[in-house]
Amino acid sequence: MQTEHLNITDIQSQESDLRRAAAILQNGGLVVFPTETVYGLGGNGLDAAAAQKIYAAKGRPSDNPLILHIAKPEDAEHYAITNDTYYRLANAFMPGPLTVILPKRDCVPTATTGGLDTVAIRCPSHPVAHRLMELTECPIAAPSANLSGKPSPTCAAHVAQDMDGRVDMILDGGSSEIGLESTIVKLDGDHLTLLRPGGITYDALCMVCEHVTVADAVTHQLAEGERPLSPGMKYRHYAPNAPVILLKGSDERVLRFLRFAQEEENCAILCYDEELPYLQDRYLFPIGEREDLETQARLLFSALRCADRTDADVVYAHLPPMEGLGLALYNRMIRAAAHTVKNLD
Ligand code: AMP
Ligand code: MG
Repeated sequence: MQTEHLNITDIQSQESDLRRAAAILQNGGLVVFPTETVYGLGGNGLDAAAAQKIYAAKGRPSDNPLILHIAKPEDAEHYAITNDTYYRLANAFMPGPLTVILPKRDCVPTATTGGLDTVAIRCPSHPVAHRLMELTECPIAAPSANLSGKPSPTCAAHVAQDMDGRVDMILDGGSSEIGLESTIVKLDGDHLTLLRPGGITYDALCMVCEHVTVADAVTHQLAEGERPLSPGMKYRHYAPNAPVILLKGSDERVLRFLRFAQEEENCAILCYDEELPYLQDRYLFPIGEREDLETQARLLFSALRCADRTDADVVYAHLPPMEGLGLALYNRMIRAAAHTVKNLD
């Protein structure tokens, strides 16, 4: 398949390009588009055949459900059974990086929901995504636009590495602002379960809802045979070529370990900016300042991709804190590392 690459810098003057992308989606084709979280691999969310094409393009197991993207929060009415709590969340966080899981309506094919009777709904804020959804006039099913097992793409160049020749069109809208996938919550009445942390933090959810629980699988490895609340939790995301090892300990001990490792091993390092002067400039990927979790979120997947393209035997990174946006970083890193943490204290 020939993939068309289009740079979208201005949605108004490029309306005809976006109309062409919408027509591809309406006719059952696949279009990759930018969002504020990561790039999405879109297909018509009401078309079971389009869902199959998405799974095939990603090499993703078809029991791992897709998120339905909508232009405005009220559009959820057509596809899901909403309640007051949904609208409270929508008022606070939509459009934005929040996905809500609700009971689905019959028009949503089970091919899209991985066989589940619930559906994940998100309303992205990125102007290109938003206009594309308005023009398409149907919900867009879109997982992250990476091959299954690779880090989610945060720029069009990363999308092209994985998806060139597998989709009809790639819309380039620059680098993703947040850089980690959306926060996912499951709604049961007025009770929220956090299934995947992201740009909307646990604390922010607690400001809007009284009852918020964090699913065990966010921070812990599932036990053998344990059934996760969200199918995606059981897959090892972002499995890099070289093993990733997370380092836990004081700044001083971690830095000493890294300096030693650079002498002894063929390693890549995801480091804080403050550490740059003290480390050799070989396979070194800075992800921002120590306290700057937003920058770390934005740069993490790109750094993992870069580390993966070296011939390093091992990738070292810091174990992120579990507070605020750190919980989302922690959740992604612990999976990339298959829960391998080296304690240096
Ligand atoms: P991605 O599309 O790569 O951002 O992944 C979407 C995530 O949403 C997957 O990990 C799914 O397991 C989760 N998800 C989507 N729909 C549902 C649902 N109905 N119930 C639980 N989790 C869901
Ligand atoms: Mg994904």
